[in-house]
Formats: sequence, C-alpha cells, structure tokens
Amino acid sequence: MTLPPLGLYLHIPFCRQRCDFCAFYLEIHREGRAEAFVRSLIQEIRLSAQEYVAAGRNIQSVYLGGGTPTALATTQLLAILSEIRTHFPLALYCEITVEAHPSTISEQHLAQLRQGGVTRMSFGAESMEDSDLTRIGRPGAVHQTIIAVDQARAAGFTNINLDLMYGLPGQSLKGWQGTLARCLALAPTHLSCYALTVEEDTKLATDIRRGRSPAPDEGLQIDMDKAAQQILGDAGYERYEVSNYAKPGYACRHNLLYWTNGEYLGLGPSAQSYLNGTRFGNVADLAAYNASLAESRLPIEDHTKLSEEEQLRDAVIFGLRLIQGIPTHHLHQHAANYGLASVTARLLTDQLIEEEGERSRLSARGRLLADTIAGQLY
Ligand code: SF4
Repeated sequence: MTLPPLGLYLHIPFCRQRCDFCAFYLEIHREGRAEAFVRSLIQEIRLSAQEYVAAGRNIQSVYLGGGTPTALATTQLLAILSEIRTHFPLALYCEITVEAHPSTISEQHLAQLRQGGVTRMSFGAESMEDSDLTRIGRPGAVHQTIIAVDQARAAGFTNINLDLMYGLPGQSLKGWQGTLARCLALAPTHLSCYALTVEEDTKLATDIRRGRSPAPDEGLQIDMDKAAQQILGDAGYERYEVSNYAKPGYACRHNLLYWTNGEYLGLGPSAQSYLNGTRFGNVADLAAYNASLAESRLPIEDHTKLSEEEQLRDAVIFGLRLIQGIPTHHLHQHAANYGLASVTARLLTDQLIEEEGERSRLSARGRLLADTIAGQLY
C-alpha cells in the first residue's frame, strides 16, 4: 500500500518586535535564544524522523513559518534545511516555502536560500500603504516589499506569495483596491488576503477597547473581500480557497494539505501536527521546548485521537473552503452524524453552500461568511 505524502511545518518563533494585531506564540529575537533554538530544532528533526517517518513516506512540502523565519541567519536556515534533507525523504518536486518579512532579507540571502533548495518565498506585505502599516504597528515599509520581490526574482524564485490583510484600522475600500493594484504590478504567483480579526490580549484589542483605534467594520470587510475576488479574478488569479488566490498551477501545496485533511508534522514550539488520525501539539514555550529536547524527549504537550466522525467533520469543514469542495455525500453523512440536517438544509436553501454534480462547496456568498458557517457545522 502506498502511504499518503506528508507535509512538514517548522515554526520559527522569533520576530524583531510584535505587531499590534499578532497573537501568535513568539519571542523577540536575540542571538543566544536563536542559537539555542536551532540546536533544539535540529534535535527535534532527528527524533521526529526516527519516531514518525515510515519507510516510503515522502515529504511533499516543507513550510518554514512563524514568527519570522528570516529573523534567523541564513546559515541557520540552511543548516535546518540540510538536517531535514538528511533525516526525511523529500519528494522529487518537494515544495519548500520560507516566510519572510521583507525588511529581513537581502538579495544575497535570497540567492543562498534558492541554492539551498527553497522553491517558494512568501513575503508578509500586509498592505501597500505605509500609513496602514504604521496604524497596525507593523515594522517595515512598502518599498521594502517591492525591493524584496525584485530581489527574489533576481535570485531565481519564480513562485512568490504576498500575504495581505484587509479591514485595517482607517483603511478605506479605495485604499485596499490601491494595495491590490500595487501588488499586481509586482506579479506574484500567489496572494493570501486575510480579513483582520481582533485577537484578545493584543495591543490592537486594547487600543480598540480604549477608543484609540476603530473596530473592524464587517460590512466594509465584506466589500473588500468582494473587491479582491473581482480584481484578482480579472487579473487571472483563481480563488482556490477562502483567503487564497493563485495563478494556475501555483496553489500552495502545503496549505492544501490542511484543507484536504492531509497529514503534516509540525516542529518547533507551539507547532501542531496531524498524523494517523491524531492531532498533537508542541509546548508553546521556548524554555520548556529547549529543556525537553536537551533530554532527548519530543516536546509534545497534548494528543487527541479523532474518531471517524471527527475526522469526517474536519474534512467537511476545511474542504468546504476549497473551490474544489468535498463529495456531497460527506456533507450529508456529517450532518447525520451530528444532528445537523436542518442546519445543512438551510445553508443549501440560502445558497451559502452549493451542490454541483457530486460535490459541494461554499458559494461565492458563503465564502464571505466562511467562519460563521464553519461554526454552524462544528
Ligand atoms: S511579523 Fe508576523 S509573526 Fe511577527 S509579530 Fe508581526 S504578525 Fe506576528
């Protein structure tokens, strides 16, 4: 029996400073911390490979996310990639993505990453207006994104993503349309467009509570989402998932694993895994992570074995977000398992979910309400 491919996610938990809206687990970058972390991560790569990689199970995608992976020195990133290659069997055309903050990279670094086998760069642009970046406490400037994309191309990258956020404090529909137009001028192969959500315990949440910043306007976010669909669709990008647009052939293979209920192994503090029907996660604390690996113990904190019904539930909820959708009988089986027949019928009648042939997916209107619908089906 051929085993399904596996994805590998590495969480690099460092940033130079925390953006106002960010609730991810991270530490402010310091040389000593980074060196200790890289030692631990290399140990985790070795131990995980012994524990989880069955013979013949190829890695189809490697994703270095964070945090800011490029807060590490390029030599450290290359050492991590080399360790992965030594211990995990990478598929021939393995997609290897590195997330980067545009201000943390140079043409020389990009060239070294390309030579080290990285196939895809993902730049956190967030907006193409400096005033937006200032209002969300995001370090860096728009011209650094423009330079980073040019340098990535010069270094040989042909697969480039830009991450954007919309519904930012003070951002207008016209401003968002301008950001999209400026991104299109850079001709990335992929764009991720996320609606700003306000997470508890962030500076942004405090600012909104104290009246120093406006709360996101849901109606405006819906208009911005529609604008993105229109502008990017006209420019030849396919919306293959609620927040993701790609030129044909450039959908992110690693992220598709998440939405198709594929399996992945997450390494690094706070990283999550899904393997053999079990979800498990690493401790979200760098000191505890380092201590565990110093004793040659994997830093796993919790394990949840999913029942068949729960596996189907997750496949339905994630899969509906995709343009390719899910088999319709999975939707109805999930509804029967959890007593959701009337909820599902209403979503179909309201045309938030559409059936086409044997498959079901969120309709264009349903994609605007994806998180609400997921909540109703959970
Ligand atoms: S760069 Fe990304 S991970 Fe780091 S603080 Fe900002 S949003 Fe969070």
